[in-house]
Amino acid sequence: MCGIVGFAGKSAAKDFLFEGLHRLEYRGYDSAGIALLNQDKFNIYKTVERVQALKAIKGFDNDGGALGIGHTRWATHGAPSVENAHPHTSENMKFAVVHNGIIENYASLKAELEAEGISFKSQTDTEVIPQLLQKYYEGNLIEAVREVTARLEGSYALGIICTDFPDTLVAAKHFSPLIIGLGEDANIIASDVTAIVSHTKKVLYIEDGETALITPNSVTVYSADGTALERTPSVVGWDVAAAEKGGYEHFMMKEIHEQPDAVSQTVESRIRGREIVFEDIKLNGESLKNINRISIIACGSAYHAGMVGKYVLEETLRIPTEVDLASEFRYRNPIVDEKTLTIVISQSGETADTLAALKEAKKRGSHVLSIVNVVGSSIAKASDDVIYTWAGPEIAVATTKGYSTQLSVLYLFAVWAARMLGTMESEKIEALFDELRLLPKKIKRVIEAEPIIKQAAKKCGNPHSLFFIGRNTDYAVALEASLKLKEISYIHSEAYAAGELKHGTISLIEEGRTVIALCACERLFDKLLSNVKEVRARGADVLACATEGNTVIEAEAQEVIYIPKTHPLLSASLEVIPFQLYAYYAALYNGCDIDKPRNLAKSVTVE
Ligand code: GLU
Repeated sequence: MCGIVGFAGKSAAKDFLFEGLHRLEYRGYDSAGIALLNQDKFNIYKTVERVQALKAIKGFDNDGGALGIGHTRWATHGAPSVENAHPHTSENMKFAVVHNGIIENYASLKAELEAEGISFKSQTDTEVIPQLLQKYYEGNLIEAVREVTARLEGSYALGIICTDFPDTLVAAKHFSPLIIGLGEDANIIASDVTAIVSHTKKVLYIEDGETALITPNSVTVYSADGTALERTPSVVGWDVAAAEKGGYEHFMMKEIHEQPDAVSQTVESRIRGREIVFEDIKLNGESLKNINRISIIACGSAYHAGMVGKYVLEETLRIPTEVDLASEFRYRNPIVDEKTLTIVISQSGETADTLAALKEAKKRGSHVLSIVNVVGSSIAKASDDVIYTWAGPEIAVATTKGYSTQLSVLYLFAVWAARMLGTMESEKIEALFDELRLLPKKIKRVIEAEPIIKQAAKKCGNPHSLFFIGRNTDYAVALEASLKLKEISYIHSEAYAAGELKHGTISLIEEGRTVIALCACERLFDKLLSNVKEVRARGADVLACATEGNTVIEAEAQEVIYIPKTHPLLSASLEVIPFQLYAYYAALYNGCDIDKPRNLAKSVTVE
């Protein structure tokens, strides 16, 4: 959660810091702040509004300080307020710090410092860091940072500046993301590459426990024991345009429209002839044969992608597959061993709960395969194998193309493994493979039905609550559609396995209640139709989503959205699209901040 930036250069730092924070704002937006070192003292600019408001603060636009740090916050300790906004400073005003993460032992550290006479200005956990730097500093900056980080428990990515070193920025990392960008006469740090690519594509990754000393012309990375390390820079593949809106009003709408290309890129880049090739993957036919269980672990929408994965993998591989919420898995004494294949899914690759669950599974001997979008992210690095979703940067907090490309990787993996294990008749698996390659075109057709979905969302207005129902993968889509609507339009909704409604929840169905029935699963359509009749009989209005050619549903639903026919195991990829658009327009009509919904942040790097 939250975005941090830092700049050590020979020209004014404010432009990069402001633009960088702007690009990182999707990671957290409770408040923002920048510290610039100018003539041996800090100028600190903070706001509880959005990053844009920093520009209006007196003096900011003329501040020529060439060393600075910035932060856009997702509050964990202390309300969003100017006092709690970062950067935080030491009492003697020698150190300024931005921090992403949580210092778990901050209370005891704070008590220790207060007993020594230090007074605190904020309620944050972060403030202990500059105060500890003041305590430990004896003229050697990197040494003081090392001593302080040795006392911290929890997670952090840090940007630190000190008035004694007007051209030096110190970075440190433990469980929170941080990347160094190597520019001309300026080196920078940021939480992710979206803030870096407009400046440079050359980056250095630092690992947990390491620190880096950064000046305009040099970067030195140190291990936890102070040894200088050799690091080779990497070149980032994303360009600036990928991180901009490109004519759309919101990133979310741009990303919805990018899905055909993103899915095509994810799938086609793995296909040679009719072969599926996952480069650098250690899993193979032999190791797959030893697997007797698959455990999928994820959070939020990635968990919903995992639910689709369960249906797909059980059908194609005939291996029992379970899906777990990472936050539950990690504290549950799970039954996992070397015969379990663990698949973790995370767009950012930094989801703290998922990372912790991954480590737990690995500790118990499981082979971990991750499905991740961000190259070089913590989850990618901690896994035995990675299959990247080539979705490009996803900026809107509510995922669309991230989710769709996760599904695509799960399908690819299913075909790849089923071919090796021979668990499905070859005609059937080849039919699935052929249909998979048609998905981008079909997704495009669904997106073209946008005007119809826009109308449906308008009619939906702002109901008190609505229901999504479905069976099989339709149920998994119902969960994702409901989450999408809740997170961006703030309309309450529930997703129910259609057969489960009658076991309690049907008591909430009354005259005028909207029920959205997902009917893509043809095999179970008759069953679903009965459930639709049940809610109609109790006065509900039904909006259905069905495959082209299904006219039976028209007799029961007030409105039907059609999606193209596809393989039954792939229908989630088409069925989710109308409800991304539905949520988008419902949020638009309700006047919500679509790309930055309240209380949320993109990359959930805290527990
Ligand atoms: N724990 C810190 C705070 O609440 C940092 C939160 C963040 O990562 O934005 O201020």
